[in-house]
Amino acid sequence: MKGTIQFYSTNHQSPTVHFDEALLKGQAPDKGLYMPENIPVISHDLLKWMKSMEYFEIAEIIIGKFLQGVIHENELKALVKDAYNYEVPLERVTDRKYVMRLDQGPTASFKDFAGRMMGRLMNYYLKKNNRKLLILTATSGDTGSAIANAFYGFKNINVVVLFPQNEVTPRQRKQMTTLSENIRIIGLDAKFDDCQALVKQAFSDPELDYLNLSSANSINIGRLIPQIVYYFYAYTRLCEFPSCEEVIFSVPSGNFGDMMGGMLAKQMGLPVKKFVIATNENDEFPAFIKTGKYNKIEPSRNCISSAMNVGHPSNLARFVTLYGGMMDEKGNISKMPDMEKIRNEIFAVSVTDAETKQTIKSAWENYQLLLEPHGAVGWRGLEVFLKQNPEFDNPQQLCVSLETAHPAKFPEQIREILNFDPELPPSLHGLEDKPEKYDTLENDYEAFKNYLKWKF
Ligand SMILES: *Cc1c(COP(=O)(O)O)cnc(C)c1O
Repeated sequence: MKGTIQFYSTNHQSPTVHFDEALLKGQAPDKGLYMPENIPVISHDLLKWMKSMEYFEIAEIIIGKFLQGVIHENELKALVKDAYNYEVPLERVTDRKYVMRLDQGPTASFKDFAGRMMGRLMNYYLKKNNRKLLILTATSGDTGSAIANAFYGFKNINVVVLFPQNEVTPRQRKQMTTLSENIRIIGLDAKFDDCQALVKQAFSDPELDYLNLSSANSINIGRLIPQIVYYFYAYTRLCEFPSCEEVIFSVPSGNFGDMMGGMLAKQMGLPVKKFVIATNENDEFPAFIKTGKYNKIEPSRNCISSAMNVGHPSNLARFVTLYGGMMDEKGNISKMPDMEKIRNEIFAVSVTDAETKQTIKSAWENYQLLLEPHGAVGWRGLEVFLKQNPEFDNPQQLCVSLETAHPAKFPEQIREILNFDPELPPSLHGLEDKPEKYDTLENDYEAFKNYLKWKF
C-alpha cells in the first residue's frame, strides 16, 4: 500500500515521490522543492467538527490527509499527541482581532510546530527501515534550537548544528548546548553565511556520502505540512458557525515556510479573505508583488527581527508554483505566476525597524499586547492593511496576526522599548543553571570534515 498523494519537484526535472521519500530527501534531485500533486480538501462539515477538537486531533486530520497510505492511523495519532503537548493561545486584542501565540513549545518559537513533527516522522521511517541519518544544519538562532530539541534522544538520528559564536544570544546558545546525547553543537568564529557554506559543501562532498546527510531546513515538505494545522486551529476556535465567514491572517515572513502553510490551508478549503505577508526591511517580496520584477537582496539586511533577515526566501518557488508560475532555486522566473490573482489574495508589506519598535510600544500602550520584533512586524502589517483598505476595517471582521516567538527570547529589545523584563515562559526556566557542552572549530572546511569523520 503506497500513498495516494504524490509529490512533484517545482523544477519538474525529477520523478514524483511519496511523502516518506520527500521527507528523507529534503530537496529534490533537480534542486527543486517538493509540492503535493493534489491538495486534499476539508469539507465544511469536517471544519465544523474541528471546533470541538483539540490541537493534536486537528493535526492528525490535516497531516493524515497528506500521509494516507504511508503511515498507520494509530502510529500517526501517537506521534501528533506526543508532538503537540502544549497550548496555542489566541489572545483577543480588540473587537475580533486576535494574536495567535505560537511560542509555547519547548524552544519558545513557532519552529517547534514543524520541527517536532518532522523529527518524529523521520525517526518513524528510519526505525522502520533500520536506517540512520545525520542531520546537518546551520543556524542564526531559532532553527538550531528547535531542531536540536525536536530530534533530541532519537536513536536513529544524529544532529550537528553549526552556529556563529558572536551572532546568537546566550539564551539561544544555551537552548542548544545543554542537551548533548545525539546532539552535537559547534561554535564557529564566523558569520551565519560561513556556517551555511560549510554545511552546503559537506552535502556535496562524496567522501561524506557514507554519513547519510540530510538537512532540516524549511525547504523540507515535512516541515511545511505541520504548519498548515494552526491556521485551521485558529479559524475553528474563533469563527461563528454556521456562517462561513472569511478570516484575514497576517504572517511575519522570512523564508516563507510559515506563510506557505497558510496558503496550503486556503487551498484545502479554509475560508481566508486575505493574507497579509509582512516582511522586515528585506522587501524583495513586496517589491515583486508591486512591480512584477524579482530581485534578491544580497547580502540580506540586518534587522531586529533577525530570524526574518532573508534576501531570497527559500520557499518562494513553492509560492510561484501555486499561482501557475515557475521559479528555479536561484530565483530565476521562467514562467510568471498569475499576478492579478496574487494581488487579489495577498497584501505584501515591508516594515522598517523603526516601525517595528514603535509597534511594540503602541501595542503595549494601547492594548497591553506584548509583542517581540517578529510578531510586531506581523501586527504592523495588519494595521497598515486595514488602514489602506477601510472596507475591511470593521469590528465584525475576524483577523488573526501570528506571533512567532516568545518576547522573553528578546529581553534586550523589550527592556529598551518598554522598560521591563518579559517574564520567562516555563520552557525557558532553569536554562541558566544547566551545564553547557559544545565544540569550537575554525572556519575551515577541512577541519569541519575531519571533525565529522572522526565523530561519526
Ligand atoms: C523563522 C522565524 C520566522 C520566519 O518564518 P519563515 O517560515 O522563515 O517565514 C519568523 N519569526 C521567528 C521568530 C522565526 O524564528
